[in-house]
Amino acid sequence: MKKTFGAKPHRKRISRYFLPLATGWMILQSVFLPSPTLAQNKSNELSYSQFLQKIEQGEVERVELDPRANSAIVEIIGESGETVKREVQLFDENSALITRLRDSKIPIDVEASDNNAETASIIANGVLILLLIGGLALIIRRSAKASGQAMSFGKSRARYQVEDQTGVRFDDVAGIDEAKEELQEVVTFLKETERFTAVGAKIPKGVLLVGSPGTGKTLLAKAVSGEAGVPFYSISGSEFVEMFVGVGASRVRDLFKKAKENAPCLVFIDEIDAVGRKRGAGVGGGNDEREQTLNQLLTEMNGFEENAGVIVIAATNRPDVLDPALMRPGRFDRQITVDLPSYKGRLGILDVHSRNKKLDPDVSLEAIARRTPGLSGADLANLLNEAAILTARRFKETITMLEIDDALDRITIGLSLNPLLDSKKKRLIAYHEVGHALLMTLLEHSDPLNKVTIIPRAGGVGGFAQQNFNEDMVDSGLYTRAWIIDRITITLGGRAAEKEIFGDAEVTAGASNDLKVVSNLAREMVTRYGMSDLGPLALESQNDQVFLGRGDANQHNEYSEEVATKIDQQVRAIALRCYEKARQMIRENRALIDHLVDLLLYEETIEGEEFRKIVSQYTQLPKKQLVSSGNQ
Ligand code: ADP
Ligand code: ZN
Repeated sequence: MKKTFGAKPHRKRISRYFLPLATGWMILQSVFLPSPTLAQNKSNELSYSQFLQKIEQGEVERVELDPRANSAIVEIIGESGETVKREVQLFDENSALITRLRDSKIPIDVEASDNNAETASIIANGVLILLLIGGLALIIRRSAKASGQAMSFGKSRARYQVEDQTGVRFDDVAGIDEAKEELQEVVTFLKETERFTAVGAKIPKGVLLVGSPGTGKTLLAKAVSGEAGVPFYSISGSEFVEMFVGVGASRVRDLFKKAKENAPCLVFIDEIDAVGRKRGAGVGGGNDEREQTLNQLLTEMNGFEENAGVIVIAATNRPDVLDPALMRPGRFDRQITVDLPSYKGRLGILDVHSRNKKLDPDVSLEAIARRTPGLSGADLANLLNEAAILTARRFKETITMLEIDDALDRITIGLSLNPLLDSKKKRLIAYHEVGHALLMTLLEHSDPLNKVTIIPRAGGVGGFAQQNFNEDMVDSGLYTRAWIIDRITITLGGRAAEKEIFGDAEVTAGASNDLKVVSNLAREMVTRYGMSDLGPLALESQNDQVFLGRGDANQHNEYSEEVATKIDQQVRAIALRCYEKARQMIRENRALIDHLVDLLLYEETIEGEEFRKIVSQYTQLPKKQLVSSGNQ
């Protein structure tokens, strides 16, 4: 016996679609469109056999055939001799009937029915059929798509972006001159590939840009492609990583295929650490998908020849977690560090981004640059944009220093909210902030106070005391031990004031962020700068430390349990010593603090200059504060 595989499932599949549809169709029709035959009066009907009988009996006078409705109107002689019209349903094949009618010499008329209900029914049926076909097509298409998707995921949803012309030039990038210089070479490679290949030079394939977010890595890559006049392909590492294994790898393949077809060109991979983490050391027990993607990336970079004219630029802020294989020759063998901008860099960036903005002549870009250490290029661009928005909202013609100040507070601290109503909470916040502000003013190595305010900010900030940092020290990273100690003391000043004025029971959780900063600073003193009794040892590798006190100091432990305990002791000792000092200074200046708090509750913001004036009426200001008080 021959079995035919395949035929059966096929039929089954069709019936699976048709059965529910056909049923639906019938239900619909019976509900909305009662067929004309059913609508007829039953008593008016004559069955087919009765009709044949009447023919035989010679009682039929005339037959009117309606081929469309497949029925006939029959005129017969009624019981009392009059002519009666009756309807008969016919079969499809009527030739035998017609022969018989002719034999009996009964006149036949053919009349197409113009029954309205019937026409409507036909139209409605037609519409229904169309709808059903449409619906069916939709279902089939969708199911086909669903089954096809699993196979061609990466292809159909490639997420890389292409820009034929980025329009970005090196002129648009400021403050990172070293990186720009190094990349200048890459521009030449892309522009004049032949010149290098002619003498047998191998062109590098990959460049790794290392730097914290917003320092302009993407902008730099775009500028390279803009300067070289080649297309810019970009994708983010996080977009490679999908739920489905194999998707990332196929995206890499697609991207490189397209890039090679369009060489010379530049491929930019942002956040490469999302795929390029060390293999096997995966957080959460290894990640097959990520490793496959990484392997594919490595294969692609091996695969294209040195002179294919495709240069890959990748960006990361975590070079330490990257798989070493990525850094091997022929891959990302060039590393360029993109630092946070220094004072000069910030000035340059502000200059670039103020080109298309209307600045008031009183705006000093130098002053802004001086007040913004630690901000990235993206932060600065955002600052000027926020200031422009504020200016427009205030119906002003030009951006003034006032808008820039407000914008700076907004991006560094948060949107300002309505002042609190007078309450115990407001008093407590005032004491906390005055505690910080007073120590900023009285400590010898502190940078001067810019302002103290109790206008709350979005994100749960009740108020703040703000300094004008010494930009030279922040930019160079050469913090002195005395400066860091004073900084810790200042940071503890808020909690110290709460404790001295309100007592242990009233101390709030509002200082938790202060305490975190204190731990980080103290830990960095011990483990990175060798500023404790443990001696001049770097106990932690210095990598992604961005800005003093911001780095997460608990990352890489390269010491024993015993040393860890000693570190903790040192950190505690530093923090406690500073806390004691802060409390003592608060106690000694209680009358001054009460006065400042009253003023702050009334005015809600006190500028540094005014603050220093009041303090100087009560006590001696350190020399540094007197000199730099002209800063703001
Ligand atoms: P990254 O890629 O390093 O995270 P981006 O290149 O995306 O940073 O920077 C975001 C934006 O910030 C840029 O589009 C640009 O407007 C601005 N920006 C950052 N750095 C600079 C710089 N050095 N010069 C000019 N603008 C910059
Ligand atoms: Zn505080």
